[in-house]
Amino acid sequence: LKDKYDVIIIGAGGAGMTAALEAKANGMNPVIFEKMPVAGGNTLKASSGMNASQTKFQKEQGIDDSNDSFYDETLKGGKGTNDTEMLRFFVDNSADAIDWLDSIGITLNNLTITGGMSEKRTHRPEDGSAVGQFLVNGLLKNVQEQGIPLFVNAKVTKINETDGKVNGVTIIFNGTDEKNITSDAVVVTTGGFGSNMELITEVRPDLEGYVTTNQEGSTGDGIKMIEALGGTTVDMDQIQIHPTVQQEKSYLIGEAVRGEGAILISKEGKRFTNELNTRDKVTAAINALPEKYATLVFDSGVKSRVKAIEQYDKMGFVISADTIEALAEKLEVPADNLKATMDTWNSSVSKKEDAEFGRMTGMDNDLSGAPYYAIKIAPGIHYTMGGVKINTNTEVLNKNGEPITGLFAAGEVTGGLHGQNRIGGNSVAEIIIFGRQAGIKSAEFIKAAK
Ligand code: ADP
Repeated sequence: LKDKYDVIIIGAGGAGMTAALEAKANGMNPVIFEKMPVAGGNTLKASSGMNASQTKFQKEQGIDDSNDSFYDETLKGGKGTNDTEMLRFFVDNSADAIDWLDSIGITLNNLTITGGMSEKRTHRPEDGSAVGQFLVNGLLKNVQEQGIPLFVNAKVTKINETDGKVNGVTIIFNGTDEKNITSDAVVVTTGGFGSNMELITEVRPDLEGYVTTNQEGSTGDGIKMIEALGGTTVDMDQIQIHPTVQQEKSYLIGEAVRGEGAILISKEGKRFTNELNTRDKVTAAINALPEKYATLVFDSGVKSRVKAIEQYDKMGFVISADTIEALAEKLEVPADNLKATMDTWNSSVSKKEDAEFGRMTGMDNDLSGAPYYAIKIAPGIHYTMGGVKINTNTEVLNKNGEPITGLFAAGEVTGGLHGQNRIGGNSVAEIIIFGRQAGIKSAEFIKAAK
């Protein structure tokens, strides 16, 4: 541990490690401080993949996508409230971010689709496994290879400044040892506040009692520290509820399960919504059922295409049966209804038309391959769309819209990009695209100041 670094990065999730790698590549000497005993943050739990348009992998696989369509669909998903400058920068730099990851050994070339998107633009690891673990392992490996110091059990409690210029942080190491470390710039990548129920219920009293899928370190520290320096926030009450969370373990069941073909049924054994509508709409549909939970139903084909299902199975979430009737019995839903639901769905898939709910995606394969599977789910707190306000240079802005000198932020700690509803796969894209930008722009800032 040194007394001074060029750039201090707070939080070792996807955004922080990406920022560190770019700062280093741009000639800086960065350090990362992480309050938890391990690196990875909520990024480790990311399941769907990374959205990007006009990528080389899409081209190779014959998918004709456009940045404009990615922009339009994200804006529609966010109910037109997204920060459009941020969004433009995001879509236009998405393919480059996929290439950058590929260049450092993190190849995301297996494509799927998430709710609200019309094209396969969700990039996953080749074997279809969850993106989070793969990404964190890959980033950590690069951080180590680059010799970037990363301290765990190092909780930043304050960002320090003199005359409006940020110049370091105060850290508590191992819960006891307080130290001040100085730097020419600080990058805040502390993630969201999905585990801070006090703050959540302060901004959204209606969410009392919901489970959260977030890791315990997601408590909004960065937001508080930035507010203390005059930074401003946006969309703090925009909290994403994910529709498919296993309740007993608060474990997220990834959207790829639906993207690869699963349907949702009610306690009556009937479909009740377009399963690949945006997360807010699917959540509302589940909450409108009298039982307020639903069941994902899928077949062996989905199971083989979504690697994460092995993990769900290991955790004891997956109910299986050789026939639909037997599955219905285990689920305690009327067998006739479930049989009829499956038949209707399979014929909708073959016609590529869902007359009941207008689903148009995740219909490449029907659900006719025994054995059959089910996972019971209900909505849970998943992501905080709001956060501190930044510009496309990742500079943290004050109430007058001016940058706070030497202060940068990226990832879930920031707000604006997603508007009122985040599309699955867009947060991984955000942490890479804006994490890179934070590394590059903090390095530029330091060089210009010298
Ligand atoms: P993102 O997806 O934006 O990268 P993550 O949740 O993956 O966000 O990572 C944020 C990381 O920041 C987590 O590992 C979290 O434990 C860490 N963190 C949060 N607050 C602090 C803090 N005060 N000091 C150091 N690390 C922090």
